[in-house]
Amino acid sequence: MVYPPHSCPLTAATAWPPEAEGPITGDVTRSFRPRRRQTSSPPTPTRDLVQQGRDLARARAQTYRERSLAIHGWICAKCAREFEADNLQLLTVHHRDGNHNNNPPDGSNWENLCVYCHEDEHSRGILADYLSGKDGRR
Ligand SMILES: [Zn+2]
Ligand SMILES: [Zn+2]
Repeated sequence: MVYPPHSCPLTAATAWPPEAEGPITGDVTRSFRPRRRQTSSPPTPTRDLVQQGRDLARARAQTYRERSLAIHGWICAKCAREFEADNLQLLTVHHRDGNHNNNPPDGSNWENLCVYCHEDEHSRGILADYLSGKDGRR
């Protein structure tokens, strides 16, 4: 480090533009970046959010289906047909109030229905959507 003639080292740091400007500008720029990242909204692309929503909905459907099966048993609430692991995909969870987002943990909004009885409960179009969205296997 070279100090300008006739000035003491302590004042030189601020009084000597050629030395001071470069590093200070760099520091300011660097310290601004993380601050901007924190104050603005999270940098998540819309596509990721949609995908996250789909994954969440699928995971939630799996969760409440398993809970409903555990609470109400592997049996159709209407025709009393019983199910086993190899045909369990035919047993679906019906939402009594029709709201798939209403999933009280005590199972009070769920009814286990076989696909045939479930079809009775809904119009065919709604059930087709319901099944294709929830169970990709068939
Ligand atoms: Zn049934
Ligand atoms: Zn239903």
